[in-house]
Amino acid sequence: MDHFLYRDGVLHAEDVPLPEIAAAVGTPFYCYSTATLTRHFRLFEEALSGLDHMICYAVKSNSNQAVLRVMAELGAGMDVVSGGEYARARAAGVPGARIVFSGVGKTRAEMARALEGGIRQFNVESEPELIALSEVATARQLSAPVTIRVNPDVDARTHAKIATGKAENKFGIPIARAREVYAEAAALPGIDVIGIDVHIGSQLTDLAPFEAAYTKVAELTETLRADGHAIRRLDLGGGLGIPYARDNNAPPLPLEYGEVVKRTVGHLGCEIEIEPGRLISGNAGLLVAGVIYVKSGEGRDFLILDAAMNDLIRPAMYDAWHDIVPVEEPAAGADYAPYDIVGPVCETGDTFARARPMPPVAAGDLVAFRSAGAYGAVMASEYNTRPLVPEVLVHEDQFAVIRARPSFDDIINRDTIPSWL
Ligand SMILES: *Cc1c(COP(=O)(O)O)cnc(C)c1O
Repeated sequence: MDHFLYRDGVLHAEDVPLPEIAAAVGTPFYCYSTATLTRHFRLFEEALSGLDHMICYAVKSNSNQAVLRVMAELGAGMDVVSGGEYARARAAGVPGARIVFSGVGKTRAEMARALEGGIRQFNVESEPELIALSEVATARQLSAPVTIRVNPDVDARTHAKIATGKAENKFGIPIARAREVYAEAAALPGIDVIGIDVHIGSQLTDLAPFEAAYTKVAELTETLRADGHAIRRLDLGGGLGIPYARDNNAPPLPLEYGEVVKRTVGHLGCEIEIEPGRLISGNAGLLVAGVIYVKSGEGRDFLILDAAMNDLIRPAMYDAWHDIVPVEEPAAGADYAPYDIVGPVCETGDTFARARPMPPVAAGDLVAFRSAGAYGAVMASEYNTRPLVPEVLVHEDQFAVIRARPSFDDIINRDTIPSWL
């Protein structure tokens, strides 16, 4: 459920009509709802109630400082995957002790920064990374709390580009080699092995892969404890999917996911971490765009928007489906006709939807992409020298620009022309 509803014939974000924001900031823009972010975080809190747990919001899904602050004020930890995200989480007021560091290619500089600044744990993904971390920590006479990410070889049954838990994926160590790697880790100076980490993919719409992976993690916990490792923390990753299309295939609810967690690992007495991103931020955001032209083509009609693939790349990259709705509520009984909905970028891939039934839409109208709060603004680029889309946060009847649209000069002045030219 989200807080983007039609009221008096106009789509609102909480209590703010979207045309009011469009008039103030121009289109396109991203719009996030505080109430929706809050609601989604609390669903996970409820789902894990009774377990010693921490919800570490996956910063990469939407890393705006204001969004991170909303999360931090709710008591969230953070899952970061780069030095930049670590800096963002700290700048938003999250203490190091609530930040976990994931990622398959952490550099020594990133490790040093997190160790010195404070970190809850490193989720280590390989033996070379363990050795590097050991060296970085011992050089500073520090000890790095570590979980090792295991690859459980389960099929997450999601889009190939966001499945991470199969043996052929680059992530984690093969679970079959876990005992060996944990023994190595335990022998390394500066490494404090505290738990196990797993993350099998994103946009999972079925609980069975979670159940399979967490069952393997539970078995591994017992095995490693028998080997003498003090396994006291399990990081179970993120990945719970959201409904993008309004059909009957709704993904499982956090509460149902929580039951899987409790059933599979609840008896182990471990502190449980989860790293949800998309389920918290995805349906808490819209991308609002203006219609530039309605163009009749050969056997098809096009809606040409002022938003493009550089602003929201998910359709081009993952064949993602986004619900696209007019901001002005269609009249009851309106005639729907199919449109190809596209942006102005010079690539055929700049297509958001094909033959999408839409009610009558005219140039100048506003449309909203639903479920655009996760992996939207964070993946945007300035391809075609299109300025990064501004982001707006709504809270009840207030809204604020939380990242302004850069001017052309801002963009151009980032380049420097060498003195010999
Ligand atoms: C991307 C990622 C997440 C978040 O995934 P969502 O599908 O957005 O919940 C969590 N943990 C790790 C390690 C990730 O790479």
